[in-house]
Amino acid sequence: MISIKGLRKVFTSENKELTAVDDLTLDIKEGEIFGVIGYSGAGKSTFIRLLNRLEEPSSGNVVIDKQEITALKANELRTARQDIGMIFQHFNLLWSRTVEDNIAFPLEIAGVPKAERVNRVQELIRLVGLSGREKAYPSQLSGGQKQRVGIARALANNPKVLLCDEATSALDPETTNAILDLLVDINQNLGLTIILITHEMHVIRKICHRVAVMEQGKIVEQGDVLEVFTHPKEKVTKKFVAQVM
Ligand code: ATP
Ligand code: MG
Repeated sequence: MISIKGLRKVFTSENKELTAVDDLTLDIKEGEIFGVIGYSGAGKSTFIRLLNRLEEPSSGNVVIDKQEITALKANELRTARQDIGMIFQHFNLLWSRTVEDNIAFPLEIAGVPKAERVNRVQELIRLVGLSGREKAYPSQLSGGQKQRVGIARALANNPKVLLCDEATSALDPETTNAILDLLVDINQNLGLTIILITHEMHVIRKICHRVAVMEQGKIVEQGDVLEVFTHPKEKVTKKFVAQVM
């Protein structure tokens, strides 16, 4: 489903080079929830942003659903991105737009006619459990509700893949669980492949099928979640596993 080969990102600032993602190769299967865990600065966000080219790779390639993302021209990339939804730690909502207008935004961009948009937004609002809050502004919502808007907006164009960058890190434990349940629901009922970035091992344990551990831009260990939990090999993995023991 997703095939990543030799992916690298080198940032240059003040004449210094920093390799944030270092020759990363990884395959993700259709329909799985794949977790990537690592400490701050490991390169997780850079990695996930390379997948939809919010960040341009220095080298390497990314294929999502048979489409070579890294080979697309700007206008082709815009279309391809409709198949790749993304949610963020701080939700990235449009603060001057209501819940329904936030969710409608990607549909407007995609040129979906108004009547169809209205129906689709209603459907999405029900899916994420926000019925009754259509006219609210983001500032009037709780963190969990804001992330529900983020999820609905990410799903608007029926993507095949959902990228989640620390999607629950700003939420309390109970709200985190509710959002993780929603992601599982989406994975099972809509068949979406999900890539989830986190620094919390309990998030991995709760919903991921497989996990990769990132350190200094590289994947140092990967496998089935149960296997990694019971037989962690690397020091960094052992530290993460100890978090939840
Ligand atoms: P966190 O858990 O804190 O979100 P992360 O694993 O997501 O960390 P990244 O944000 O991917 O880490 O950053 C990886 C490295 O790349 C860090 O050293 C960071 O300072 C650097 N970096 C990220 N973005 C840029 C940029 N735009 N310019 C220069 N360096 C950057
Ligand atoms: Mg990050």
